[in-house]
Amino acid sequence: MIGKTIWKFRIQKLLGVGAFSKVYLVECTETGKKYAIKMISKDRLAHDSRIRSSIDREVAILEYIDHPNVVHLDCTMETEHHFCLVLEHVDGGELYDYVEKLHKNLTPGQTVDEMLIKRLFLQLVNVMIWLHEKHIVHRDLKLENILISSATDSDVPVLKLSDFGLARVIEVDNPILRTRCGSEEYAAPEIIQNTGYDGRKTDTWALGVILYALLVGYLPFMYNPARGEKVSHLFYRILSSSQVKWPSEWTKDPSRSISQEAKDVVNSLLTRQPDKRIDLTEVKKMAWFNDCDLDVDMA
Ligand code: ATP
Repeated sequence: MIGKTIWKFRIQKLLGVGAFSKVYLVECTETGKKYAIKMISKDRLAHDSRIRSSIDREVAILEYIDHPNVVHLDCTMETEHHFCLVLEHVDGGELYDYVEKLHKNLTPGQTVDEMLIKRLFLQLVNVMIWLHEKHIVHRDLKLENILISSATDSDVPVLKLSDFGLARVIEVDNPILRTRCGSEEYAAPEIIQNTGYDGRKTDTWALGVILYALLVGYLPFMYNPARGEKVSHLFYRILSSSQVKWPSEWTKDPSRSISQEAKDVVNSLLTRQPDKRIDLTEVKKMAWFNDCDLDVDMA
């Protein structure tokens, strides 16, 4: 594909491979602007109704919304063999790699910059409040689905939500969903219990998982299938832990300590009972955010 031109887009390189798509960096031959094109084989779309509905949903939702913290869909197009989404190119990779690097680069004794984490996390809180007000739930929030844009004057990168393949528009009078979806490590207890869930509450839980990872550098609930661990062990931990554990509790290393105000935010997001879990609009009123501008989105 590299070097080929589709319509007015010259393909420059492969950016990544998803479960049923390939994403390429392209350049518009008319304007020189870069885009990311997500290409899905028409053959797979025709034979797999789940892929079809995932793409239909992603396109319908992205066409309907426009927010500085959501990857923008420019247009769709078709080739003989592919259906394509022409997306804004986000140049800084995934939040997953950013978090890994951020924590790896800490020198001995250095604590993580909570102001940076706060300003990154507020972008996520604000965009999720905005989506939920539009009755959209994402259902697949995770570090890999948040991209980083360096195109900003601010010292804090702009975060962009991507991958709306599991997103849904909910009915306000009947918001309960039943399809179990999303990554296991980000799954809220009510998803695991299969009793029906409100996607706004499960998105809120996933934000708690993300905030923990931003603060400590790894996920609060992990499992390693390569080491023979079963997903049921992970689910047991999610269902049974009353509060997450923090590294300073077992390393006794003060440099790994996190402020109590930050821990309070994580604990209120990772509240097991969905009806007791904090509302996202209330999160910003918590003490941790007292010292920063609450309305940041695209800095
Ligand atoms: P799946 O669809 O299986 O959940 P995924 O989210 O990795 O997987 P895609 O959304 O198809 O799949 O993305 C594949 C890769 O392309 C990812 O690594 C992602 O980082 C990259 N990517 C996706 N969209 C963009 C974009 N707009 N700009 C830059 N890179 C992108």
